Amino acid sequence: MKKLVHRFNNQNNKSIISSKEMLGGKGANLAQMVKLKLPVPPGFTISTKVCDYFYKNNKKIPKEITKQTKKEIAIIEKITNKKFGNLVNPLLLSVRSGSSVSMPGMMDTILNLGLNDKTVIALKKKTLNGRFAKDSYRRFIQMYSNVVLGIDAYLFEELIENYKLTKGVIQDTELEEDDWDGLILNFKDVVKEKTKKIFPQDVNEQLWGAVSAVFLSWNSKRAKTYRKINYIPDHWGTAVNVQAMVFGNMGNNCATGVVFTRNPSTGDKEIFGEYLINAQGEDVVAGTRTPQNITKASNKKSNSKGLSLEESMPKIFKQLKKIFSQLENYYKDMQDIEFTVENDKLWMLQTRSGKRTAKASIKIAVDMVKEKLISIKQAVLRVDPNTLDTLLHPTLDEKAEKKIIASGLPASPGAASGKVTFSAEEAELLKEQMQDTILVRLETSPEDISGMHAAQGILTARGGMTSHAAVVARGMGKPCVSGSNDIKIDYADKLFRAGNQVVKEGDIITIDGSAGKVMLGKVATVKPDISGDFSKLMKWANRYRKLKVRANSETPADTKIARDFGAEGIGLCRTEHMFFDEKRIISVRQMILSETLDDRKKALSKILPYQRSDFVEIFKIMNGLPVTVRLLDPPLHEFLPKSEKEIEAISQELNISNQNIKSRINELHEQNPMLGHRGCRLGISFPEIYQMQCQAIFEALAECKKNKIKPVIPEIMIPLVSTAAEIEILRKLVDKTAQEIQNNNSIKIKYYVGTMIELPRAALRAKDIAKFADFFSFGTNDLTQTTFGISRDDSGKFLNDYVDNKIFNKDPFVSIDERGVGELIKIAAERGRMEKKSLKLGICGEHGGDPSSIEFCEKQKLNYVSCSPYRVPIACLAAAQAYLKKNN
Ligand code: PEP
Ligand code: MG
Repeated sequence: MKKLVHRFNNQNNKSIISSKEMLGGKGANLAQMVKLKLPVPPGFTISTKVCDYFYKNNKKIPKEITKQTKKEIAIIEKITNKKFGNLVNPLLLSVRSGSSVSMPGMMDTILNLGLNDKTVIALKKKTLNGRFAKDSYRRFIQMYSNVVLGIDAYLFEELIENYKLTKGVIQDTELEEDDWDGLILNFKDVVKEKTKKIFPQDVNEQLWGAVSAVFLSWNSKRAKTYRKINYIPDHWGTAVNVQAMVFGNMGNNCATGVVFTRNPSTGDKEIFGEYLINAQGEDVVAGTRTPQNITKASNKKSNSKGLSLEESMPKIFKQLKKIFSQLENYYKDMQDIEFTVENDKLWMLQTRSGKRTAKASIKIAVDMVKEKLISIKQAVLRVDPNTLDTLLHPTLDEKAEKKIIASGLPASPGAASGKVTFSAEEAELLKEQMQDTILVRLETSPEDISGMHAAQGILTARGGMTSHAAVVARGMGKPCVSGSNDIKIDYADKLFRAGNQVVKEGDIITIDGSAGKVMLGKVATVKPDISGDFSKLMKWANRYRKLKVRANSETPADTKIARDFGAEGIGLCRTEHMFFDEKRIISVRQMILSETLDDRKKALSKILPYQRSDFVEIFKIMNGLPVTVRLLDPPLHEFLPKSEKEIEAISQELNISNQNIKSRINELHEQNPMLGHRGCRLGISFPEIYQMQCQAIFEALAECKKNKIKPVIPEIMIPLVSTAAEIEILRKLVDKTAQEIQNNNSIKIKYYVGTMIELPRAALRAKDIAKFADFFSFGTNDLTQTTFGISRDDSGKFLNDYVDNKIFNKDPFVSIDERGVGELIKIAAERGRMEKKSLKLGICGEHGGDPSSIEFCEKQKLNYVSCSPYRVPIACLAAAQAYLKKNN
């Protein structure tokens, strides 16, 4: 067996490996910190490869690993001058997980391992600190019992809370050695009752129990959910880091803290973090004690009266500050660091790239270019395009009336409104019903991850800026207000109180994660500000982008937003949306219900002026940029009324009998409307509809010309084509209509005619179709539907099972299925271009706004992608990254 246990306190720096793939992020970075000569407690990493072996071999740890581990523990013993399980000077270990990408809080950790009834006495004697020794032992029993033995954590917490109540104290730190002695006995009783065994006293049994538990936690429900949300492959596995314990809970010259080298909410270049004197790491994130700020400046900003680390431990602060810049210089990124101070000596326990908000991510990237830490190209590659979404949506309108009912910490920026829910399950349930929720919890734990994902925002009563809720919400880009002491949650009655205000489950609240405010009801919002660093990054991205980015838009309002966000044209104007307008739908229905061609034409002539003025508006806004107008696509029955009441109203208005309307509805009814009389098939059956639409487009152009509005070149797009004959016929119709309008207005109009590629046959026969098309636009919504034979409307019911069973990595309606749908796109592009070199190629399905699909489009050398207006900046950045990745 290869070397799978890697020491990071090697004397010979050069031989330390720091590969994330082998060691996981935590292990690799610990090794790297040793290389940088930073103070890291000695230890070793059991490789991620062992995790794979563990699962393939009946969850057993190979003998060779036990042997190598024994050897490594002996090395730690030598360095620390302590011995594992020794009754004079016992070595304690931490056992921590760490996969190759960081999954904060998702997997398990065990601290203070190596304590038992005897070694705890030795620890007390050695340190002359009985309180510390017993506090460490009770922590170990709590963690081990929960993580390895599967006993609910609250059983222990409850015992502590009750005991504190009887003793009349608030903080854990107020409990003495004797108090912990009593509680340890109680804890052990809980273990005995739950497992029918005594708490393990053999330190080696403890060690292997902990290592197995870390491997097992890779497949815990919360870790699996996290991987699913973040598309992390299941086979990567976690490494296990075993390290000598250092103690932040030995007394008042000890501390533990979590620090970000820059502000993870705003990106400002300031040290941002929290620490606790006389505590262990989990106290800072658990929210049980309120941590203090690291710097004087943050104390001032938050009006906090506590002593900052800068004041309480100035030497340590200075040393840390130096290490922060050393680490930033090395990793060229903002770091999230854990440290411990043991008897005035600083130890580094972890460094990793810090999770941050989209706003911070942009600011840090732009600042780091200014600081010459990274290049412009690196800055463009740094920002995850998907996270921009949070910046592109509205924020609270300052002028709107707000009823603020509570305040808390501004843990993750942005505003969100929704129904109050008190459980993750409820949030998930309401999401399925398309309802927005705010998840309100005392504090969140990794079990809440899927509920946090489902909710629009998160509000917690406890926890600081580095609490679980804060970190996870920032990572997800969801607004979060944490540590709101103003709210008192009553889970049993499903309500919370904020002063006199009672807020029940289902009531609507708004949270502002930038200001840390909670408001009653839904508060109005305003458009986001995309100037400053945002626009700078977009300008840089545009330097490297080859793909053009257009928007799918049909209303003047959306078109305006798209232009403001930098859209370079409209890639899909779905004209049917123009038909649904209240004033027009009646004429549309009249047209559909007409029995003769003449009647149909009459109804169409009523729709014509509306369509024309819509196009004039859009053409004006687009100011010469290309606009792809798709002729009518959906089956006609979609426009007809459904309820008796509506049928009655239409019968009155159009003077057609109820019976006639109903029989027309029946006539148009189809078993599979998605595969039915829709798209160009409508144009073949009712050419007058397409003729009217083309007339509206060309007349709008004539009007623009007359009014000296910069002319756009319309691209008229025929949907759902599968044969060359269809487009040949319909192209003639478009050309004929154009000719008539040109003649009538004595003008020359430039336009293109093309088709959507939405059906496998169209992709395969692209060469024939290209004879009659100036462009192709891949309608990947329908192309995915027809390639898989999966209904785009109903597949939600089972797609999750497909993702869970690894049949699909991702929902193919979100990210292009490269091997199937992608192959058809490739074939169509090649065959189409073979026929016509100048053929313009674009994509206008939902995939046009998905970064990984955009990468695929760049590889196929498409000319543009088209997406919803709010995704335009995301697509621009993704297109630049796709180009840079391809050409690096
Ligand atoms: C498509 O099918 O990808 C498309 C853009 O058209 P629609 O979603 O309107 O069917
Ligand atoms: Mg379609």
